[in-house]
Amino acid sequence: MTLERHRPFIEDLYRELHAHPELSNREHRTAARMAELLRELGLEVHEGVGESTGVVGILRRGEGPTVLLRADMDGLPVTEVEQVPYRSTATDEWEGQVSGVMHACGHDTHMASLQGALRVLADQDDWSGTIVAVFQPAEELINGARGMQEGLRALLPGGIDIALGQHVMPGAAGEVRLSGGPVMAASDHLIVTVHGRGGHGSQPEKTIDPIVLAASMVVRLQTIVAREVAPSDRAVVTVGTFHAGTKQNIIPGSARFEINVRTFEEPVRRRVLAAIERIVQGECQVAGAPAATIEHGDAAPLTINDEDASARLAAAFDEAFGAAHAPAEPLLGSEDFSDLPATWGAPYVYWFYGGFDPALVAQARERGTFDVDVPSNHSPNFIPVMQPTLDTATTAMVTAARAFLA
Ligand SMILES: [Zn+2]
Ligand SMILES: [Zn+2]
Repeated sequence: MTLERHRPFIEDLYRELHAHPELSNREHRTAARMAELLRELGLEVHEGVGESTGVVGILRRGEGPTVLLRADMDGLPVTEVEQVPYRSTATDEWEGQVSGVMHACGHDTHMASLQGALRVLADQDDWSGTIVAVFQPAEELINGARGMQEGLRALLPGGIDIALGQHVMPGAAGEVRLSGGPVMAASDHLIVTVHGRGGHGSQPEKTIDPIVLAASMVVRLQTIVAREVAPSDRAVVTVGTFHAGTKQNIIPGSARFEINVRTFEEPVRRRVLAAIERIVQGECQVAGAPAATIEHGDAAPLTINDEDASARLAAAFDEAFGAAHAPAEPLLGSEDFSDLPATWGAPYVYWFYGGFDPALVAQARERGTFDVDVPSNHSPNFIPVMQPTLDTATTAMVTAARAFLA
């Protein structure tokens, strides 16, 4: 396999990208570098695809299916701890503050392995079809893929046959995990403003206290997952912010809190969102308060792998990885990858690969300390081991592309 030949390139590129992370929708250096490498390889290159820094490389080789391969490009406002020589010292402004910037979600491994996979595929002459390599901005904001839809539609009016994407996870390096059906949750963000009637803290009878009202809502919201969602379904309802008041002897006029919802199926999602609406407005009525205002923030789509395509890819992964390929547990995290194939209503498959020392992972699993000992995505310690992580990710992408090309 030509992977050996390209391994030094992939590892160098990974070190370079890790040392130069950029925040969402500001991936200018990264995007330029991706485009440069695609051009070097002789692909048809399009830059600035969509609303920000999207890059698309197209490799046409005769008749056959069109296969979209995706890597995301953004880093996070996380200050890296000193663990590797290629660590990031980059800083940028984030929500009014200067922050360290780090590839703390491992998107650098996605880019390096996709560039590597393209090189391996370009070397092989036993396939035909069209490869569309997409380097997507702003996955962390869940709007980068949506932002590329219009540009992609213009570039590929005939559509694609399948989209393929992968993510590094806190598992053992060398392992690949794939399942058909739902693999990543939908995420909804609701902003609730409770309208009370403000007044003096000593005269509650003249007010409608929005803090007591909102607090009662927050408690009651916990019964949605406990009492309204079937035990066989999964959902999370988290109240992540709660703000009200300025001084201890003033009953404020309003209170505001934000809810994050994660679900795996559209009927469950609809049921949870309806329950939130019912509980919030019901509590307002009980308190004699006007109806609350409920606004919807950014939502992330469900990631539901196409069953037939997943079965086909699972067979190919079995051949390539043997016992290191296992089914994936659905994750309550969210992704916007599915917004790319949604451009044309095309099917897709999304899988995971581990990035950490297999001995450490096995030991942690045995001791029951996995959640503590193995760093999770977005943590300042989320630095995958180079190998076999990069070999695995590159092989997975090559194998997946070949499973669907002619
Ligand atoms: Zn992330
Ligand atoms: Zn990520």
